[in-house]
Amino acid sequence: MTHTREITTGQQEMLAVRYRRRYRLCQILTILGVLFLFALGTFSVVDGAYVLGTILIVNALVGLLNLYLLKRTGNIERAATILSGILFFLSMSLIITGGKDNTGILWVYPIGAINLFINRFWPAVFWFGAFNIASVLLLFTPLSTLLMTSYSFVETVRFILTMLALNSICLAALRSEEQAYQTIMQLHADDIRQMAYYDTLTGLPNRWSFKTNLERLLARAGKDKERIGLLYIDLDNFKQVNDQYGHEAGDRLLFKFSERLGEAIRPTDQLLKPQKESLARLAGDEFVVLLPNIKEPLDASAVATRVLNLFDGGLEVDGVTHMIYASIGISVYPDDATTPTELIHHADAAMYDAKNNSRNCFRFFTQKIADTLRQRQQIEKGLREALSEEQFSLVYMPIFDCKNNTIVAVEVLLRCQSPELKGIGPDQFIPVAEATGIIKDIDLWVIDNALQALIILRKKHYFKGKICINISGVELLNEHFPSKVKNLLEQHKVSPENVEIEVTETAFIADNETCLETLKALNELGVSLALDDFGTGYTAFSQLIHYPADCLKIDRSFVNDLFSEREARSKMVMVIQSLAKLYDLRVIAEGVETEAQMNYLRENGCDWAQGYYLSRPLPWDNLVKLLSE
Ligand code: C2E
Ligand code: CA
Ligand code: CA
Repeated sequence: MTHTREITTGQQEMLAVRYRRRYRLCQILTILGVLFLFALGTFSVVDGAYVLGTILIVNALVGLLNLYLLKRTGNIERAATILSGILFFLSMSLIITGGKDNTGILWVYPIGAINLFINRFWPAVFWFGAFNIASVLLLFTPLSTLLMTSYSFVETVRFILTMLALNSICLAALRSEEQAYQTIMQLHADDIRQMAYYDTLTGLPNRWSFKTNLERLLARAGKDKERIGLLYIDLDNFKQVNDQYGHEAGDRLLFKFSERLGEAIRPTDQLLKPQKESLARLAGDEFVVLLPNIKEPLDASAVATRVLNLFDGGLEVDGVTHMIYASIGISVYPDDATTPTELIHHADAAMYDAKNNSRNCFRFFTQKIADTLRQRQQIEKGLREALSEEQFSLVYMPIFDCKNNTIVAVEVLLRCQSPELKGIGPDQFIPVAEATGIIKDIDLWVIDNALQALIILRKKHYFKGKICINISGVELLNEHFPSKVKNLLEQHKVSPENVEIEVTETAFIADNETCLETLKALNELGVSLALDDFGTGYTAFSQLIHYPADCLKIDRSFVNDLFSEREARSKMVMVIQSLAKLYDLRVIAEGVETEAQMNYLRENGCDWAQGYYLSRPLPWDNLVKLLSE
């Protein structure tokens, strides 16, 4: 919308420039006229031409008054009219009196031209008409008795013809200037419309105009009992194209896709009337297709298949073939939704289902998705409530040193007592918190409370170990996060070496500057960093050296598979341990549930361990009891 504002400002500026130009013109011409009239008037009086002299001086005085009014009110139209009146009156006086030595008539030409140029077109036409009629009457009718001088017939005819020609030229110039202005203004207005309703990159309708279209269409479909299908398309791997080839290449790809999308929904299908309005770009790499008047929901799948086929063998842009695909969600009116917002929302949810399942496919909105959606909404509501009503709490999971079985650290885990979240653990509510942005508040709440707990543990219960705090991966893209952690550390006067921050390995985005910066900033605070769920992500092992990590937390699925038949799984713990040794990192095994697992880990040199075999996550009182034993 900032574009629109720029254009409107542009339009206003143009009007202002035009106003200033006319203002200056009126001002300068009046000043010149006043000086000229005073001089000529005085000469005439001195010369004995009292009538002419008086007329000229009175005109000059009116001119002065006009200048004053213009300055005070800035009303240009009035100033131009008064000035025109003066000039008209002056011309008539010059014709009637003949001016000095009968040269007055010559002065009428420039005066006429000026008169036309200070006006807009139509007032100028008026003055042009008035002047010519008045001069014809004066020169060719009995009114000529008013003349104080005499003109030959040839002189009068030449005068009238020249005046007509001159005035016509001036009017034509005025007209074309005005038209040029109008065209420019119209172009500006078109731009505003285009930018407000259409996406600048692809030229497709934008989210706003799409919603308006959809509202209209649904209202009509409701009356005519029609079905409308909506495809929600999201490109897969588009981000990689942007990252790898730059945003311009990304833009070109989006443009190309939008063109081909238009072609894909156009073909022979009689039941679809393809029009520009049935396509829209909602955001980044998200597009929608409207299928008005389909017979049954399955008709939409034919179009979805055609769209997916566009990506067969990748999408080529500027000679580079990009391996991108699409995930498509389909919802149908009135089967899946009755309002525009709901219809879009449900197609979006179906699209996520497609993305989560196998990508490059389409999915219809189903009851199952509806249930998931409802649950997510409920979780979101519960989370907001929990934040405002203090319904979060922490449980504490002791971490043991494998060599001597002492508690060396405590991991805090989040719980939520909100009634909406009954039976729902962090595994389910954290992703919702991440998707909705609530996570930022939650993470800070957890850190704040974990540090408070640590202080009590150290002061009252002589705890010497670390407190381990989980933070969401989204914080790695939040450049303000380290300074917030720093503030909390200072506020609670906690020394950073007693704090370990756990981030899941999958949150690490290779080559992402912000991500690396955040990690470095956290490291500089002096807290230690653990890569949680290690082994489940795709960290190239050689990259480990670039992360300022202190500890690898072996994912519990690998501990679980320690004695599995599948060698690739059972060996994973060993592989991670050797790796950790190589990079001088501490290793924590999580999810230790049996004595056999514990013995294996101890014998193979694992540093620390946690799991149900050693201790469940404990409420505060139980933790304190355990520590004092
Ligand atoms: P995580 O960081 O990997 O936490 C360990 C999870 O495994 C905990 O589940 C814990 O109860 C469970 N666990 C530990 N030992 C065993 C075991 O021996 N057997 C089994 N079956 N499970 C074990 P929880 O508390 O449900 O947490 C799940 C995930 O939620 C955590 O995984 C973490 O990613 C996230 N989470 C938990 N608390 C927080 C928090 O305060 N902030 C953030 N951002 N995420 C949190
Ligand atoms: Ca953890
Ligand atoms: Ca973990």
